[in-house]
Amino acid sequence: MSKKSDDTQLRCSFCNRTNDEVSSLIAGQDVFICDHCIMDAQVILDDTEKVQSGVKRRSPGRKKIRRKQLLPKQIKDQLDEYVIGQDYAKKSLAVAVYNHYKRMESDSFVTNFQDVEIEKSNILLLGSSGTGKTLLARTLARILEVPFSISDATSLTEAGYVGEDVETILANLLAAADFEVEEAERGIIFIDEIDKVARKSHNASITRDVSGEGVQQALLKVLEGTIAGVPPKGGRKHPEQSLVNIDTSGILFICGGAFEGLTEVIARRLNVNQIGFANNQEKRNSEEDTSIFQFVEPEDLVQFGLIPELIGRLPVTAALDTLSEDEMMRILTEPKNAIVRQYQKLFALDGVNLVFDEAALRTIVRRAIAMGTGARGLRSILEQSMLDIMFEIHSLKDIGVCSVTEETISFGKPPIYEKRKASA
Ligand code: ADP
Repeated sequence: MSKKSDDTQLRCSFCNRTNDEVSSLIAGQDVFICDHCIMDAQVILDDTEKVQSGVKRRSPGRKKIRRKQLLPKQIKDQLDEYVIGQDYAKKSLAVAVYNHYKRMESDSFVTNFQDVEIEKSNILLLGSSGTGKTLLARTLARILEVPFSISDATSLTEAGYVGEDVETILANLLAAADFEVEEAERGIIFIDEIDKVARKSHNASITRDVSGEGVQQALLKVLEGTIAGVPPKGGRKHPEQSLVNIDTSGILFICGGAFEGLTEVIARRLNVNQIGFANNQEKRNSEEDTSIFQFVEPEDLVQFGLIPELIGRLPVTAALDTLSEDEMMRILTEPKNAIVRQYQKLFALDGVNLVFDEAALRTIVRRAIAMGTGARGLRSILEQSMLDIMFEIHSLKDIGVCSVTEETISFGKPPIYEKRKASA
């Protein structure tokens, strides 16, 4: 079979190509294999290894996964169910996300615009801690039914240094996508604390800034869209490891940060350039007033320490407002999975109607505001107060109603219990 009787040429035993048609033909005992077949065999081996390591790649013939297609207004309406306030950020996200997925699905035969390439609309969210940046990103992914992962920019370092490679963020998404590569390739990655990798100083330093600018540099390609070799189980890359190729051009990156100190940078610029803001000096410089974030310009971010190339890859910027007392009240009770509603459900499972006085809720909110951790404080304060009640209530008999009062929150007084009415 290796040699055909009608010609004297050697042939590959697998594809039958002649010696002239290939670059090299390797001989075994009575068999030959050409370089093409060796390469094909290597691909098969690689795929087998990937399947064994848990990574799945959709076969080319299989149907493409359809994403839930929603209009910007529909996306915003759904975000409203989970996230209170932050209207501007919601609108920016809704439009950016709509355009992002449109770009992925766009066919190039929109005749008049064949040469126009729609840029990727990665997003930068600016807002104090606990204002809902992570919640917005997570909720978006849930609404769109795409995989979602969160990574912390501070855990990353430039390749080759102690810390995690930038590709780890892709490994996290791959895991969230249940190791389905195509699923991961249309997912959303939230990179938290992006402000913490700002360049420390504008002067070129003699020591390398491996965890600051180095990380920003490393993120560039991934954010823009590249084929990245990702160790499927995360961790550092090493030479013998099999890597999974992930195309990041369809992945939407949302970066978030509190950007402490940025308000001053913006205020300083506005003082110089915009006389209209001058008489609002006091408010602008106050620590809590992040409303000035809405005037942010790329040059402010450069001043803050982000490199221009990174800012260029985050074309959509949205500022989140500091939450007002009323918004915090609504956060406690209104969203679909509001914490008060979660406790009420827990109690209802035991047949108890849990009620909160308005004054009790307001006390929780004021305390949370004083803590300065945004809405994040609400949960911890409520949890603290509920601990004693949850511990005690099961030793009390026939409780039908449990009313939490301001004294319960402020001084740890027991709530008011009402016995269950005897059923007729
Ligand atoms: P960060 O802005 O620091 O990323 P998170 O999104 O993690 O803040 O918010 C922390 C918690 O506070 C969330 O899990 C959520 O329960 C609550 N929270 C914060 N902002 C909002 C909001 N605007 N609407 C509803 N809940 C919120």
